[in-house]
Amino acid sequence: MIYTSKKLVQASLHTLTYHPLRKEFGLRSQMAQSVTKTVIARYKSTMENSHDWTKVEFKKPELDWVWNRDYSLAQGVFSVNTLEERIQVPFESQGMKHFFDGTWKFGTAKVVYKHGKFFLHIPMTQCIEETEWEQLKEIVGVDRGLNFLIVYDSHGQTWFIKGRPIKDRRGHYKQLRRHLQQRQTPSARRRLKKIGQRETRWMTDVNHQVSKALVERYGKNTVFVLEDLTGIRTATEKVRKRNRYESVSWAYYQLRQMIEYKAAKAQLKVIAVDPHYTSQTCPKCGHTEKGNRNKKHHRFACQNCHYRSHDDRIGAMNLHRKGIEYRVAVAAQA
Ligand SMILES: [Zn+2]
Repeated sequence: MIYTSKKLVQASLHTLTYHPLRKEFGLRSQMAQSVTKTVIARYKSTMENSHDWTKVEFKKPELDWVWNRDYSLAQGVFSVNTLEERIQVPFESQGMKHFFDGTWKFGTAKVVYKHGKFFLHIPMTQCIEETEWEQLKEIVGVDRGLNFLIVYDSHGQTWFIKGRPIKDRRGHYKQLRRHLQQRQTPSARRRLKKIGQRETRWMTDVNHQVSKALVERYGKNTVFVLEDLTGIRTATEKVRKRNRYESVSWAYYQLRQMIEYKAAKAQLKVIAVDPHYTSQTCPKCGHTEKGNRNKKHHRFACQNCHYRSHDDRIGAMNLHRKGIEYRVAVAAQA
């Protein structure tokens, strides 16, 4: 009905969809509204991706449950509307007790069908007060290197998180995958899928540990300065082909999301700055020149003020410096 009407506003679709959904399918009032909402949302996201009016089809069944109307969770009882009646079942809250401390809000939950089982995804939100910029004392530059994640803080300390084991392990997975791809057997395909899942799990775990370590090390009143990842493509293009796979082998985008999430939870800030020239600029005087950096010998020597350092840490130092500039600019606006 939505496809032929080309309407994507809930109110104008109401007469078209509400009664048929209720009469033909026996849906409750809230469910009928949710179904229309879900389909509209799917049309909108399809439009965003393809910019075309294409017919949306749902391959797997799904259903939205609105908090407190269709479902609720309280005192160990999960209460939910079904087509016949409202049912109440006990649920196990072990490991998620903190979600019931009153600071969390439950959102519209989605029932999905996967691998022969039904799952309920419940989005949770929590309001966290933002730290004011004046309160931020520690500015930490976090740079993606080829072999390390490099961290530089306000005490002038550099911290290298080794990426070499990650690089090696991903290289190993890559070889395994290539080997299995050549064998076109069903068992090879199954193993390929399994290996892919194992690699994803492992990489996610590494990112969890690294982001956790970063946030715990610096604590409150910290701002992490990361590279704006829209520049990531140009960054990898500059890398020699031999190193290309490895250079993007650390799932940095995910790492950044985790840092942002954990930082927000612990009331730290994260900003992303333009990473251009961060490897050629002098972190002491700001002089930018290609000749400042000797890539071959991993040396950095400023042609202006003669500051010298190992070139690995220059990027992180410059991100740190950009963080200071950012804070100054924010203070000037206030
Ligand atoms: Zn200099």
